[in-house]
Amino acid sequence: MEQTTFLPKIREIKMLNHNIMELHLEKPEAFSYLAGQFVQFFIPKDDTQVKRSYSLASAPKDPDLEFCIKILPKELNGPASLYLPTLDIGDSIQISQPRGRFTPKDDQNQFYIATGAGLAPILGMIRDQLEHKRNTKKIELLFGVRNENDIFFQERLKKLQDTFPNFRYNIALSQPETEWSGLRGRVTEHLLHDLVDHSYYICGNPHMVKDVRSTLIENGVDSKSILFEIF
Ligand SMILES: Cc1cc2nc3c(=O)[nH]c(=O)nc-3n(C[C@H](O)[C@H](O)[C@H](O)COP(=O)(O)OP(=O)(O)OC[C@H]3O[C@@H](n4cnc5c(N)ncnc54)[C@H](O)[C@@H]3O)c2cc1C
Repeated sequence: MEQTTFLPKIREIKMLNHNIMELHLEKPEAFSYLAGQFVQFFIPKDDTQVKRSYSLASAPKDPDLEFCIKILPKELNGPASLYLPTLDIGDSIQISQPRGRFTPKDDQNQFYIATGAGLAPILGMIRDQLEHKRNTKKIELLFGVRNENDIFFQERLKKLQDTFPNFRYNIALSQPETEWSGLRGRVTEHLLHDLVDHSYYICGNPHMVKDVRSTLIENGVDSKSILFEIF
């Protein structure tokens, strides 16, 4: 069966740091999604197309569909990483319907762990919980990147923390290059706080997701309380 696709126009496209691109697409009329879901982009390659998945970094009530995309170095020849930076405002991209089950449970304290572009779905989930669902349970984010140059969306996170007393975030740098006053080391080193009575949401590369999940389970967290998305 042929799948429904959409052809939204780009409203905004910019680099957030040296390799993370923020992309805003017009939200098509018939497009509805849950925070944390992803869509497939149809990327032209030679005479054909390849599909690449990207998580929605926006919340369902936002006017645009927002994405944040890690652009790989040119030498890796990634079709999406080569194609997306050539686009401009007003160009269109073919995308699929939303899919995926990486969506939060509203009735528990929530602990989110993201590395790199893994922050994309998690920002959408957290914003939806705080701004739209008005969830007053504790919501915490641990965001890990290598160094200061890899940080993005910090102003947005700070604004959320200043606005919502139930939200707190920490950034952990595994290889800080300055007198960094935040957390140091890998995210796995900063997980062990009040572990019970939370649901956990992990997103990032396969090694990190595996390590965080194992650490949580070894320390008594029920695997049913852990949801993850691997990029
Ligand atoms: C459900 C889901 C949601 C996703 N959401 C996002 C998102 O929101 N943002 C985002 O940036 N990505 C996301 N991804 C990853 C994305 O789909 C692509 O895999 C990624 O953008 C690379 O595509 P590409 O065509 O540029 O390179 P590819 O053709 O996939 O890879 C080119 C080469 O680079 C290597 N490579 C791939 N990724 C990496 C990496 N991270 N580091 C080093 N080498 C690598 C590959 O092994 C290959 O050799 C998601 C993936 C999934 C499955």
